[in-house]
Amino acid sequence: MQWTKVLGLGLGAAALLGLGIILGHFAIPKKANSPAPSISAPQDLDLEILETVMGQLDAHRIRENLRELSREPHLASSPRDEDLVQLLLQRWKDPESGLDSAEAFTYEVLLSFPSQEQPNVVDVVGPTGDIIHSCHRTEENVTGEQGGPDVIQPYAAYAPSGTPQGLLVYANHGTEDDFKELQTQGIKLEGTIALTRYGGVGRGDKDVPVIQPDSTDRHWLGCAEMTFAVARGTAINDLCKHHLAHGKIGLSWLPQLRKEEEEQDISGVERGSYYKYFGDPLTPYLPAIPSSFRLDLANVSGFPPIPTQPIGFQDARDLLCNLKGTLAPATWQGALGCHYRLGPGFRPDGNFSADSQVNVSVYNRLELRNSSNVLGIIHGAVEPDRYVLYGNHRDSWVHGAVDPSSGTAVLLELSRVLGTLLKKGTWRPRRSIVFASWGAEEFGLIGSTEFTEEFFNKLQERTVAYINVDIAVFANATLRVQGTPPVQSVVFSATKEIRSPGPGDLSIYDNWIRYFNRSSPEYGLVPSLGSLGAGSDYAPFIHFLGISSMDIAYTYDLSKTSARIYPTYHTAFDTFDYVDKFLDPGFSSHQAVAQTAGSIILRLSDSFFLPLKVSDYSETLRSFLQAAQQDLGALLEQHSISLGPLVTAVEKFEAEAAALGQRISTLQKGSPDPLQVRMLNDQLMLLERSFLNPRAFPEERYYSHVLWAARTGSVATFPGLSNACSRARDTASGSEAWAEVQRQLSIVVTALEGAAATLRPVVDL
Ligand SMILES: [Zn+2]
Repeated sequence: MQWTKVLGLGLGAAALLGLGIILGHFAIPKKANSPAPSISAPQDLDLEILETVMGQLDAHRIRENLRELSREPHLASSPRDEDLVQLLLQRWKDPESGLDSAEAFTYEVLLSFPSQEQPNVVDVVGPTGDIIHSCHRTEENVTGEQGGPDVIQPYAAYAPSGTPQGLLVYANHGTEDDFKELQTQGIKLEGTIALTRYGGVGRGDKDVPVIQPDSTDRHWLGCAEMTFAVARGTAINDLCKHHLAHGKIGLSWLPQLRKEEEEQDISGVERGSYYKYFGDPLTPYLPAIPSSFRLDLANVSGFPPIPTQPIGFQDARDLLCNLKGTLAPATWQGALGCHYRLGPGFRPDGNFSADSQVNVSVYNRLELRNSSNVLGIIHGAVEPDRYVLYGNHRDSWVHGAVDPSSGTAVLLELSRVLGTLLKKGTWRPRRSIVFASWGAEEFGLIGSTEFTEEFFNKLQERTVAYINVDIAVFANATLRVQGTPPVQSVVFSATKEIRSPGPGDLSIYDNWIRYFNRSSPEYGLVPSLGSLGAGSDYAPFIHFLGISSMDIAYTYDLSKTSARIYPTYHTAFDTFDYVDKFLDPGFSSHQAVAQTAGSIILRLSDSFFLPLKVSDYSETLRSFLQAAQQDLGALLEQHSISLGPLVTAVEKFEAEAAALGQRISTLQKGSPDPLQVRMLNDQLMLLERSFLNPRAFPEERYYSHVLWAARTGSVATFPGLSNACSRARDTASGSEAWAEVQRQLSIVVTALEGAAATLRPVVDL
């Protein structure tokens, strides 16, 4: 509702500003005869403006933004998080470099915090009840930046409180299959504490309770050896090699690492949310505004069922390397320098006596807190009712220099450069640009999800695309883009024109293709885009609203490292100095991300024809179809299920998408009627929506996109079909599982037929 108000005001303001533009244009001789912008103006992407923006995005200013943003820890809803809301408002309301309007929108959301008075602990307790080993409660303050009252203790957000104690078992990644494996090995899980390691599945999917749903007094611990644990053996070493290879590591860092390794004081622990879904837990599908219905806590699903506490790698090593019992399977072994055993309990010749137990005491609390999104708007001159959205979250676990402040530092520099052109009267985009700083992402994409719930219809009707830059720089090797096929071409156009940082004189595109590439039937070798999961705020936009989305970052050479994430992720070591000295000295990778994102924003907001190439979906659909035919065809045939309708639907889509492309090319050669272009642009914008089916996956909250929902089945095809087939595989024809396969097939066919229909000329029914 407040959003409506801002927009209403905004339109009035746009009219006034329109006058400003006319005056501005008269003041600029070259454009003295420009007509007043109106719906009939063929305003198009201005390459001079694009070049100006590229030239003004300043690495030094990004560095200064980052220094300010990461100066203090800014956990969601903390006083410093509120200060940063004010900082964003102030920047976006600046008379010289601000936007047309900016406003904070506050939601009351359920967050989870450790107790200030009673820290969470993980102890080894001897047979007489005395504590013989305590895991670190805090990270060590190595450089002076890791301490302070606002550095929150490592914890597993939303894990319930409790003080379980028992013999320790090692449970690999803590998936359902892992616990079944332990049971197969004859290990009784009841009353034990489970030590699990990072990875395999997301934090919220560590599947502890599945095995013994009838028992109420089980006490297990999802006690993960976090990033640093994995990192010591693989990621950090590999990362050092990588940094060295790219000349991006200070000499001081390696000796420091070695010293730290010797002294075993790399004490980082990864904090994180263990909530299974995203959005505010009390208000699924509703915005967390005061008047909204809230679930009773007893009816909330998706929280971890047992007390859980993350620990660092040295503590994990102390526990794991002293376990007795059967040797864990080869795939469960890791890099902590010992043979991993399953337990239960410790070996008699180790550091702890054989009957020692592990006690896990968790004192987390749920609290309703206010968390704000900040939105800043530039009104479009010609199509103010079409939005290009660009966002990142603001909240961090500790200082969050990389996650998320690297992205916000870029966001602020982009909005400064565009805002300055706007205030000077030099430029106003064809379409509206909305900058967003989301709140409480770390707890489960809460701010962005509440926003999509509150403005569902308006956003679906009017949003051209969503661009997300969260962690702008993981490392310095190459660009990495995740996105849906229609955004591929605009990303390619942008990156071909920007110089890549680092040695050589390559464009970002030419550098990117060396690291991530694929062979496209249509274009030959091209950089490959990853698909969008639910790792950041793009998730509600693509999965829930069906808005073409992308996530942009600079990252590793994955041939040189097995790192899943950068080493200081969600730890107290993710600080300004870490970025400034080791990760991106000179901030050239940050600048490259800013230029890439800036060019994409301008192309989407200013181009007369929307640069979304829907025919690029054809390759994805074709590859999904081929995988279904090759890997599922025989199985489906055995159960009398035909892929014929799917083949027809894919062919229809391909034909309609190609025909639409033809019509656009023809129009582009002439001087088309703007209304005609607008109709075509709407077809391009709305294509992604036609893949939504809110009833397709009733068990998956918010996942409605039938092409990008989470795939658990092993066949790389349409996720609903893949998942249903993997569940039905061992059941008889006529089972409910096979009926679900048929239902999922129909859902995909209907979506593709519907998508093809939206691409047909609008005069055809
Ligand atoms: Zn983030």
